[in-house]
Amino acid sequence: MRAWVVERPGPMASGPLALVEREVPSPGPGEVLVRVEACGVCRTDLHLAEGDLPPRRPGTTPGHQVVGRIEGTGERVGVAWLRSTCGRCRYCLRGQENLCPASTYTGWDADGGFAEYVVAPADYVYPLPGDVPAERLAPLLCAGIIGFRALARCDLPPHGRLGIYGFGASAHLTAQAAIARGATLHVVTRTAAARRLALELGAASAGDRPPEPLDSAILFAPVGELVPPALEALDRGGTLAVAGIHLTDVPSLDYERHLFQERTLRSVTANTRADGRAYLELALAHPPRVAIAPYAFDEAARALTDLANDQVNGAAVLVMD
Ligand SMILES: [Zn+2]
Ligand SMILES: [Zn+2]
Repeated sequence: MRAWVVERPGPMASGPLALVEREVPSPGPGEVLVRVEACGVCRTDLHLAEGDLPPRRPGTTPGHQVVGRIEGTGERVGVAWLRSTCGRCRYCLRGQENLCPASTYTGWDADGGFAEYVVAPADYVYPLPGDVPAERLAPLLCAGIIGFRALARCDLPPHGRLGIYGFGASAHLTAQAAIARGATLHVVTRTAAARRLALELGAASAGDRPPEPLDSAILFAPVGELVPPALEALDRGGTLAVAGIHLTDVPSLDYERHLFQERTLRSVTANTRADGRAYLELALAHPPRVAIAPYAFDEAARALTDLANDQVNGAAVLVMD
């Protein structure tokens, strides 16, 4: 089979990915072999390619928003970021398996979906409908699920004022989930196309800064410099959740300006399977509008380069030919 691998982590311009021929993997006990139909491209894949996240094994295939069919049964499933947890530690036992110290991740600890086939533990794949185009489902699997957890983590009150910083794949899905709950949404992003998309999806504003104090905010851009202004833009008692797995350094905070009046700063760490099931149930019952930027399988490096250059509007998806 053909598979993309992270060969030499580094800036996209240095060509960190290689397209190679590999044996089709064999599923072990409790695993399924999935023939890939489409795989979403996430900023985390870019962090893995560029080395912001250090490799956990050499020559790993990225990609953790896989829609495909189980070989043999033909059942449609999704393979997402959370690949396994121990099931026994204090975090797993109290419903926070996303914090399991032994958790493993698709495309980081094991080969992911930038390939024609992927192997995954059966207990960690999500059943998906067979009659929806694969490229529409793929972005739900990380962009959607992680955004859904970030929305929970930012404690948005009913009909609250929500700020979203950065407007890529995850943000545009999260925005729709928030507006469906009655939120007033303010989007902060530099790119003109993203501002247009935000307004089309129902944002009250899209610009350089929110025009009113916010109850809650989610930082999707992996930019630590945005943390102080995002905290400052919160109303008293507001919460800022950082959605990404990687963030550049956060500048020093001024207690009075950025945190006092019980403002809260939180991280978001992956997701539990319960988050995944809850989000997919919602998204399949009330399908969000998914802005898709499709790429052919052999264009994976170009997709990641476009993502690095903020040239993807919506969600990039590799579609198998
Ligand atoms: Zn555990
Ligand atoms: Zn992701």
